[in-house]
Amino acid sequence: MKIIGVIGTKDTGKTTLVTKIVRKLVDEGYRVATLKHTHTGFDFADKDTGKHKEAGVELVVGSGEETFFLLGRKMVLDELVGTIQLLGDFDFLVIEGFKGMPYANISTSTENEFTIRKVDPFSLKEEELDELIEVIKNRSYCLLQGLNCKKCGFESCRDFAMAKVQGAADDINCKSQPKRALLRINGHPVPMNPFVQEFISKTVLGMIDALGMENHKIEKVELIIKNK
Ligand code: SF4
Repeated sequence: MKIIGVIGTKDTGKTTLVTKIVRKLVDEGYRVATLKHTHTGFDFADKDTGKHKEAGVELVVGSGEETFFLLGRKMVLDELVGTIQLLGDFDFLVIEGFKGMPYANISTSTENEFTIRKVDPFSLKEEELDELIEVIKNRSYCLLQGLNCKKCGFESCRDFAMAKVQGAADDINCKSQPKRALLRINGHPVPMNPFVQEFISKTVLGMIDALGMENHKIEKVELIIKNK
């Protein structure tokens, strides 16, 4: 899952741009998730879920044709991305806000070192959007693993990220994305090299096999360990 941010000051068209990017990617057949960052919290006061929250619960879940989670605590970006990865096989995650994140972004106003384009969402022409989508595909990248393993040809994950946003590594991707197993401690993803992933996967699957689960077609295993 590649991550692309949309940053900019208030009322500069961030949501307009997110909507245009998402529509285009979805039209091309990609599976897309979005994440919206806000400093002010969300207003659900007039909704049933808001009333549940007001009563003091820590988590409200809305269940129907769609599912909605309202969690009464802040989550850091890595934790959010890790959770989104668990929810589905998305090709792109488009993030509105989070201007300090180490991922490629499109800016509607002030740029930073991870900005790959500055655009005016309100005057963006169709051909400019097409070109923007190609840039996003080439310069965005997955959750940084922090392994600094050099398998991508760069000395560190940060060097890899800078090369991507500067357009010097369009065809290169991180070679150490988790393929077999994802470990999260206190909600935060923990980088594991392929050997450790293989070791954990085979150990857990071996234990499950010993439980006599042969009638179940096992595609994914989720194991949560509480340490108290
Ligand atoms: S392959 Fe991935 S984890 Fe290894 S240095 Fe490159 S970006 Fe970092």
